[in-house]
Amino acid sequence: MPTVPQLSVPTIAISGSEQRFPVRRIYCVGRNYADHAREMGHDPRRELPFFFGKPADTVVGGGRVLPYPPRTTELHHEVELVVALHQRGVNVGITDAASMIFGHAVGIDLTRRDLQAEAKKSGRPWDMAKGFDNSAPIGALTLGIPPTSGAISLSIDGEVRQRGDLKDMIWSVAEIIATLSTYVELAPGDLIFTGTPAGVGPIKGGESLRGMIAGIEPIEITFEE
Ligand code: MN
Repeated sequence: MPTVPQLSVPTIAISGSEQRFPVRRIYCVGRNYADHAREMGHDPRRELPFFFGKPADTVVGGGRVLPYPPRTTELHHEVELVVALHQRGVNVGITDAASMIFGHAVGIDLTRRDLQAEAKKSGRPWDMAKGFDNSAPIGALTLGIPPTSGAISLSIDGEVRQRGDLKDMIWSVAEIIATLSTYVELAPGDLIFTGTPAGVGPIKGGESLRGMIAGIEPIEITFEE
């Protein structure tokens, strides 16, 4: 038998700690800010949130220079609040959701928008638009439950491109956890990207992105030329 591959669990940084948080699964919420739903051509009325995923090993920490992803000419940024879970749960009640949360961070849901648009048009899956290598940059986790209001923004080379407030999320973090846990069993190591405010747009080679949420360690990444 050839040598059996040895795999390691992907991890993300924890602010103020040498320890790292192991990643089991990455879930993402679509269209959770009304202004972003509108900019994507959708009615932001409160329908049940919908979910998609990224492979766990798409996580990448801040301070990195990343290769520009292949097969796209329209790589988009989506700055998002990310929550990390440390409890198992099915059909979690809204009032119990906070106890599932280990910490929170700033993440960027990188999206090959041209591939996503093509997938939407033809009714095909989003996987190749959303779940490519290094598509989930996430900053260091801050312990505890996230704030329910506060500025969230993304700038490219110092120019603000996305600006919003956590209070404008259509579905709260607790509601997201409760709903998601009716579809799948949530477990320690799960991350949830909670949606992006308006202002998503293209990234060019050589540009540096900075994702920020008030009170949380920002994330910075740069793309190769
Ligand atoms: Mn997103």
